[in-house]
Amino acid sequence: MAANATRESVAKNALVIAREAAGRFGQHKELCKKFVRSFESGRETQPDFKFGRRKYKALLQRAANHHLETISVDLNDVEAFLSREIQDPDPMLLEVLQVPKVQLQQSIELMMADIEENALRYMKYFYEACDAELPERDANFNQQSSALARDAVHQWRERQLAQQSNGLSPDAAIPVRLKNNFDVRFKPRDGARILKMRELSAGKVGSLVKLDCLVARVSQVKPKVEVVTYHCEVCGAEIFQSVESERYTPPKECPSQRCRDNKQAGKLRHNIRTCKFVKYQEMRVQNVVTCSCRWRPSVHQRGAFRCPHAHRVAWGCDHCNWSVHTLPASLVPCT
Ligand SMILES: [Zn+2]
Repeated sequence: MAANATRESVAKNALVIAREAAGRFGQHKELCKKFVRSFESGRETQPDFKFGRRKYKALLQRAANHHLETISVDLNDVEAFLSREIQDPDPMLLEVLQVPKVQLQQSIELMMADIEENALRYMKYFYEACDAELPERDANFNQQSSALARDAVHQWRERQLAQQSNGLSPDAAIPVRLKNNFDVRFKPRDGARILKMRELSAGKVGSLVKLDCLVARVSQVKPKVEVVTYHCEVCGAEIFQSVESERYTPPKECPSQRCRDNKQAGKLRHNIRTCKFVKYQEMRVQNVVTCSCRWRPSVHQRGAFRCPHAHRVAWGCDHCNWSVHTLPASLVPCT
């Protein structure tokens, strides 16, 4: 009886904590935008000729020019930015969010922990902020980039959508992941503790963790679809499906307004050439020292790989030090 009551109160507390965290998302989204737009690095780096010390704007310019594939958001920078914001909250932000100053300060105080505990969601917020702040490409544009072919597809898509949308902005209909060629990743704080494999518990699901492990096995590098595109044979519309999980179910009928108005079930044709793919590799990792722990979780790498052991297709035993975010799928025991 007592155990049941305790379980209930724990579940209730977890619900309250989750609701409070969800209430802060809107404020944190605005802070992500301000961080990307205005964060200035210290004197240890050379200033950019266009953006000065605004580190992330300079990185975004390089991404826009196809010289950079990964925007690495350093959580040390985020921490420094937040400690400045907490002392003197931005009046513009207070006006946009319509919240009291004390509430915003409390929200800023909790933001760092929220990022580290809910890394994937915050990565999405930083991605959206980077997309909103992406400058136009300039004279330094990389003409040799392999992404140029995707540019041609993007221009064709914009023309198609402009014809179909009757004056509405075509950009609104295209998923952000399809528009950009860069990815956003977190670099953990210097003080973050490196975990042993046995310390990866259920409480760490969804968190950004630093892991000390051995690479036991790596798979081949494969393409993984992020956005699937379909073409309707009846109304000619292009349909986008974002894929975030391991599997997806293709839509059976065209969901476009025109097909619905005409009460027609438009047949969809899959269009491989215009889909968005990322590089993907699976790695099996294990404890550095042999112990009773039998977990051998897999690490999934997506986008531009940063681990020096990637691309190698062999059995190996390389020592690795990673920052990864844990997901339930990666905690399946390997027998
Ligand atoms: Zn249709």
